[in-house]
Amino acid sequence: MSKKAIAIMTSGGDSPGMNAAARAVVRTAIYAGVDVYGINNGYKGMIEDDIIQLNGKSVSDIIQRGGTFLGTARSKEFMTPEGRAKAYANLEKRGINGLCVIGGDGSLRGAAALAKEHGISIVGLPGTIDNDVWGSDYTIGCDTAANTIIDAINKLRDTASAHRRCAVLEVMGRRCGWLAMVTGIAGGAEYILVPEVNYDLEEIISEIKDLYENNKKRYIMVVVAEGAGKAVDIAEKIQQETGIETRPTVLGHVQRGGSPTIQDRIKASQLGEQAALALIGGISNVVYGFNAGRVVQIDLFDAVNNKKTLDPDYVRLARVLQ
Ligand code: ADP
Repeated sequence: MSKKAIAIMTSGGDSPGMNAAARAVVRTAIYAGVDVYGINNGYKGMIEDDIIQLNGKSVSDIIQRGGTFLGTARSKEFMTPEGRAKAYANLEKRGINGLCVIGGDGSLRGAAALAKEHGISIVGLPGTIDNDVWGSDYTIGCDTAANTIIDAINKLRDTASAHRRCAVLEVMGRRCGWLAMVTGIAGGAEYILVPEVNYDLEEIISEIKDLYENNKKRYIMVVVAEGAGKAVDIAEKIQQETGIETRPTVLGHVQRGGSPTIQDRIKASQLGEQAALALIGGISNVVYGFNAGRVVQIDLFDAVNNKKTLDPDYVRLARVLQ
């Protein structure tokens, strides 16, 4: 049997903690005497043969950094069977028989296609700030992003309170409202708008008017996931219809960056260790995630074929605490 060699890559949107996960994969593999390669810039680098052998030192001084030392990218070519065949050939010629993909939904879907067509062993790790990968209650980077948002909410509350204004904060989450929901609850927002729950803006606006004019609230905080509406439009409508000074804030890409929190570093390290052990031990087509505080193994195809739902407990709690 040929010597085992595995590869690691990050793909899609970056998230804080990807470095910690990659570091754990590399160090675990080296500890076990297995060769490990790094693929630069996601599937794009795989197609372009931008692949390098890594050693323990290659992943020094990165655990505390956001982003990803391997770089990440999106690749249209990889969406085609021809692109994937070209990419796979670059792994095959190095004897790479196991691949760890750290990325979001799309990246894991790409990995599933590669596994199906070329039979390579795949282990996926959910790396996205959105926390939207089915089968896991955690994705690498979601905690750091949530902490970045809560910092913004705290600051906006100070100034909104001082001026008796309404603040509308738009956060990331095109199809998944987890970030908006947890930060809205933790930040004491009056309204949390997410793509998974329908809302009636007219009704909200009349409630805001009542809360404000009857002095039930000094100021109003609204958190909106980008998939549920645009802060600029919502703020304009609130101001127009209530006369309350309303300020929109779009947090944007600061949510992606930053030094990972301790939770993201530890969990990413645990997931990275499991990923390497699985590939070394011959386990394939799985994703590692967390459930009730423990690392769990999820079938790769289940993970990509199912849609994670927003915890209804959060939705209820948000309403009760409003
Ligand atoms: P994320 O992983 O953050 O969800 P994307 O959805 O952009 O990010 O996916 C990252 C990359 O994964 C894409 O640019 C593409 O190369 C690959 N990919 C996504 N979906 C598929 C798919 N259905 N089949 C093959 N490759 C895919």
